[in-house]
Amino acid sequence: MKLIHDVQEMQQTVLGLKRQGKRIAFVPTMGFLHEGHASLMREGRTRGDVLVLSIFVNPTQFGINEDLASYPRNLEGDCALAESCGVDLVFAPTAAGMYPPGFQTTVTLGPLTKPLCGASRPGHFDGVAVVVTKLFGIVQPDCALFGKKDFQQLAIIRQMTLDLNLPVEIIGMPIVREPDGLAMSSRNSYLSVEQRQQALCLHRAILKVRELFKGGETSVDRLLGEARMIITAVPEASVDYLELRDSTTLEPVATAAADSLFALAVKIGSTRLIDNTVLGDTP
Ligand code: AMP
Repeated sequence: MKLIHDVQEMQQTVLGLKRQGKRIAFVPTMGFLHEGHASLMREGRTRGDVLVLSIFVNPTQFGINEDLASYPRNLEGDCALAESCGVDLVFAPTAAGMYPPGFQTTVTLGPLTKPLCGASRPGHFDGVAVVVTKLFGIVQPDCALFGKKDFQQLAIIRQMTLDLNLPVEIIGMPIVREPDGLAMSSRNSYLSVEQRQQALCLHRAILKVRELFKGGETSVDRLLGEARMIITAVPEASVDYLELRDSTTLEPVATAAADSLFALAVKIGSTRLIDNTVLGDTP
């Protein structure tokens, strides 16, 4: 496995491989890797001749009061996990390498970026869209894998790839959870032992909404009301959003259906966690 920091070196390396007819599978991440990332890497391994992992804590997708400076980092540990998952190339650029002086291009999408995390984190998805576009230009992947944990991000990347005719197959992967149900996230490392227990309320809310829907409940108010009760009972939890939306358009729904997305963002203390489920999907 080779670790590359330089943007030009990465692009030239991949270009050489592509000239040899190699198929490139790509997993973009912000590092501090866990089993969720590992599931993407293992699937990526089966989908290409060369597996590329990127590790880049992208400053343009963080708001001014967000956790850019404190975001957890562990390049050595990440490389060990990447190697065990069969990664061939790790691309870990610097912020200056990705955004040199004079950088001035933006990538902005329409309605898909407005609700949910787009409403709570203004500019976040512009940052995601520009960095993913750049990474696709540098790594030139045939396919790229993204987790459904970031459901809205996946929808936006699919749309952007379609709209801009980017020659990349986008593969969405299931949410990987801890044995007790907490969705794996690099940000879980911010939680104290007590907060880690409290964070289970997100998954409890998901299970409750799924159970009620399965029992025939389709009222958005009642489903969200039950979810809110679960969250508000938890001392350090505060709701950022709790919503039911169409899983394709991300528009609000009048009544819940099998293709409705239940998505939530909840702060546990100062740590913001997200989770989601599509009501008719297998959990
Ligand atoms: P991040 O490093 O948080 O930017 O995540 C990099 C990629 O891993 C994104 O496509 C995420 O959706 C995906 N990912 C993060 N956590 C999980 C998880 N628990 N299950 C599945 N995919 C995940």
